[in-house]
Amino acid sequence: MHEVSLLENVREILQAHAISQNFTKVSKVTLEIGALSCVEPDALRFAFSAVMKDSLAENAELILTIQQGQGLCEQCKQSVLIEHLYDPCILCGHPFVSVTAGNSMQIKDLVVI
Ligand SMILES: [Zn+2]
Repeated sequence: MHEVSLLENVREILQAHAISQNFTKVSKVTLEIGALSCVEPDALRFAFSAVMKDSLAENAELILTIQQGQGLCEQCKQSVLIEHLYDPCILCGHPFVSVTAGNSMQIKDLVVI
């Protein structure tokens, strides 16, 4: 399950921040998931408490937000919304739209103690 390795990365980032910014506990984590990132919100929620156990984010509240997919059409050069990877341009139907947002997961906000 790749959600677990994503969360292990998040945990390492939190630990690095804790050292550089001098906090010891995280009470709330907001993760932004790109709609095109293939990350399952349910799987992420399920894995979160297990991965964060015995870390500074143990028992932290997890908030998930979804970032819409966005791309730049190679034909009409418009920025368009993409619902699924490899969707054609919604404006002109051109099949090649380069993804510009919504294909990753990132830490959006943290509440620390
Ligand atoms: Zn287009």
